[in-house]
Amino acid sequence: MTVTRFAPSPTGFLHVGNLRTAVFNYLIARQAGGEFILRLDDTDPERSTQAYADAIKEDLEWLGLTWDRVETQSTRLDRYNAAADELREKGRFYEAFETPVELDLKRKKQLNMGKPPVYDRSALALSDDERAALKAERDGHWRFKLDHERIEWTDGILGDLSIDAASVSDPVLIRGDGQFLYTLASVCDDIDFGITHVVRGSDHVTNTATQIQIIEALGGSVPSFAHHSLLTGPQGEALSKRLGTLALRDLREAGIEPMALVSMMARLGSSEPIELRSSMEELVDGFNLSAFGAAPTKFDVEDLKPLTAKAVASLSVADMGEALAELGVPSEIAPAFWDVAKENVATRAEVAKWWALCRDGAEPLIAEEDAEFVATAKGLLPEGPWDGDSWGTWTSAVKEATGRKGRGLFMPLRKALTGMEHGPDMSKLMPLLQNVKL
Ligand code: GLU
Repeated sequence: MTVTRFAPSPTGFLHVGNLRTAVFNYLIARQAGGEFILRLDDTDPERSTQAYADAIKEDLEWLGLTWDRVETQSTRLDRYNAAADELREKGRFYEAFETPVELDLKRKKQLNMGKPPVYDRSALALSDDERAALKAERDGHWRFKLDHERIEWTDGILGDLSIDAASVSDPVLIRGDGQFLYTLASVCDDIDFGITHVVRGSDHVTNTATQIQIIEALGGSVPSFAHHSLLTGPQGEALSKRLGTLALRDLREAGIEPMALVSMMARLGSSEPIELRSSMEELVDGFNLSAFGAAPTKFDVEDLKPLTAKAVASLSVADMGEALAELGVPSEIAPAFWDVAKENVATRAEVAKWWALCRDGAEPLIAEEDAEFVATAKGLLPEGPWDGDSWGTWTSAVKEATGRKGRGLFMPLRKALTGMEHGPDMSKLMPLLQNVKL
């Protein structure tokens, strides 16, 4: 069975960058009729909070990315300890004592000498006495001993990859203070939960190489890996600095529709066009991981606006029922009102503006040169209640009386009734006007 996971750390709000990872893993699982796990990577007790964990769930629910179960790393520390013991027994784990400053110095020296900044394994050369002396002085951290061979896999997006393990530092899996780092926890979870496919950002490619060796050392089976490119801003600039403003909850607050967002993420950066989908089923059917490319993918929040307007316009009056009732739209006119409003709003929130116009009327907008014309027109307004023919009846009468036609006839009348130059088809709007201020 296909099993995927989305593994955010509950140390912040979800943003468009990690949404992409969530969408891919969700769609892969659903397409295969498999399982999608929400995994909370909360091994850092200082930065992880319940509030962020709750917010992550809330955002995913809003998007319709439902998970089959939640796993929490902080409840699995015994398992990670056991895995650490296993690696020790197998001679693949060693304690090192360099401080961050010492490591930094080593890296700088290597770079000065034109060498790659790979950890030199000096901890392995320590005598027992030296090790004991260091241990008495400071906490050691634990590194996984990579086998120096080429690590190869066929990436679901990047194709055949090969990384020389000798060019990578032995990864630290346990910090000096005993905290398990993401790598060991992630590997144990991927093994135990039977993860078959891992899609994540291309910033994880080197991690993947080391994780493949750790999985093998622990006797697990290696999942299929795919690494999607990272999103950039519209000009190709790094998005990382702006992610704070691209949190999913901010987009929701701005009125972006979940379907617009998910439809975009399921296609952005692929060779297939971005199209608004009306359901998750449609998205699942149309998803194709191999259509994605390795190049950085430009993301422009502006592109979500037309998709959102389209998504709102595609909502039925039943979808909007509660929202319209809350606004106070009487149920008998709700279908006709929604028919008019949906074509004239960028977001759901804007519907309120149209209802206010229908309920209260608008301050007439009358140009000086139209004052007399509008006064004549006012006298010719048909008796209410208005229906679909009222606009036609009125404009014909005004035309007859004033001799005006075309734009010169219609525009001042629209402005007089709605206070605006643009808007819905007047013959549809007029029956909805409960009041006019003309
Ligand atoms: N918590 C990790 C992250 O957000 C998960 C990476 C992974 O998918 O393995 O980067």
